[in-house]
Amino acid sequence: MVGAGLRPARAVELHLTMTIDPTTQTLAQIQATTADAIVSRFAEVRHRFDEQAVVHSTDPENWRIFVVKWAGRKSGVLTLITDNWLKPASPELKRVVGQELNQFKAHVERVLAERQRAIEATAEKTALARDKVDLSLPGIERAIGTRHLIRQTYDELLRIFAAIGFSVVAGPEIETPYYNFEALNIPEHHPARDNMDTFYIAGARGGHLLRTHTSPMQIRTMEKQKPPVRIVVPGKVYRRDNPDATHGYMFHQIEGLAVDTDITFCDFKGTVDYFAREFLGPRTKTRLRPSYFPFTEPSAEVDATCHVCGGTGCRVCKQSGWIELFGAGMVNPAVYGFVGYDPEKYSGFAFGMGVDRLAMMKYGVTEVPLLFQNDVRFLKQFP
Ligand SMILES: [Zn+2]
Repeated sequence: MVGAGLRPARAVELHLTMTIDPTTQTLAQIQATTADAIVSRFAEVRHRFDEQAVVHSTDPENWRIFVVKWAGRKSGVLTLITDNWLKPASPELKRVVGQELNQFKAHVERVLAERQRAIEATAEKTALARDKVDLSLPGIERAIGTRHLIRQTYDELLRIFAAIGFSVVAGPEIETPYYNFEALNIPEHHPARDNMDTFYIAGARGGHLLRTHTSPMQIRTMEKQKPPVRIVVPGKVYRRDNPDATHGYMFHQIEGLAVDTDITFCDFKGTVDYFAREFLGPRTKTRLRPSYFPFTEPSAEVDATCHVCGGTGCRVCKQSGWIELFGAGMVNPAVYGFVGYDPEKYSGFAFGMGVDRLAMMKYGVTEVPLLFQNDVRFLKQFP
C-alpha cells in the first residue's frame, strides 16, 4: 500500500520538471508576487516568443502552428496569460499585469504581421522563379525513334519505281474471291489456289477473304483506268502459313503493273535490270528462269547476282552466286478480258515482290519474327 501511494507523487514530480511553461500556471504558483517579478516574467516570455518567431518563420507550415500557439483564441499563450496571470491577480498587482500584457500583446501582433508579410513575399518570389523559363538552358532530349526496317525498304522501293514513272495505289486487305482469284485467271478448283492457303472471313456474304497477294489492285485499277497504266501497290497480304523462321501468316508485298500499246519483253527485262541495280548496287546482273503464274504469260523468276559476294558464291547465296528476287512476267491476255482491254492492242508486264524477304536478304536478317517483335535492340540497328 505504501508503494502504491508513492507512485503518483513521483509522476507529478516528473510532470512538473518537464512542463516549464509558466503561462499555464498562476502568478502565485510561479511565485511572481511583486511588480518586478511580474515584469521579469513577461520579459522571459517575450524572449521565448522572439526566438521562436525567427526559427519558425522559414517554413509556412511551421509558421501556421506557431501563430496558433501564441495568438490562438482558445489556448494561445496570450489567452493563457489573460486567464492564468491577469484574472486571478490580486487587485494591487492587476494594473502591472494589465500593462505588461497589453505591451506584450501589441508586440506579438506587430511581429506576427511583419513576419507574415515577409513569408508571403518570399512565396511569391519562389513562385515567380519557378514559372520563369530560362531559354538558354539545354532542352530535354527525347529520342524520336527510327522508321521500321520494312517501312525503310518500302520507301526505297517506292523511290526506285517513282523515278521511272510508276504511281502508288493502295487497296483493300479484305477482298472478294473475284478480285483475288477469278479476274486474275485463277478459276475455282485451279491448282494455283492450293498454293495460297487463304483466310476466309467467317459468315461474310459472297465469301470475303484476306487478300493473298496485292494483285487484286491490278484488276481494280485497270477497271477504272484506260492505258497507259504504271502502278505499284504496296500492302499487307495474308496466307495460312504456320509461322516459323522464314514464314508468317502476314507479309508485305509490292505489286507492279505496266500496260500500254507498245510494251515488250525488252521493257520488262530493262525494268528488272534497272530495279536490281538500284536496289542491290550498280554491278548487279539479273537472270530470268521460266516459271508459272496464271496471270502472266510467259512468267519468270527473277534472280540477281549476290550482293555480298558479287556472284562468286558465299553463305548468303548458298554458294550459287545468285539470289532469288521475285516472280514476274508479261500480263496474261486472258486478264485483259476481265477489265475490257483489247488484248490485240495492249500489252504489259507485272511483278510481285515480297518486301520482308527483300529487306532480310539485303540487310542480313535471318528470321522473320525479328521484324515484328518490336524489340528496340533489333530496330536500333537500322537507323
Ligand atoms: Zn553470295
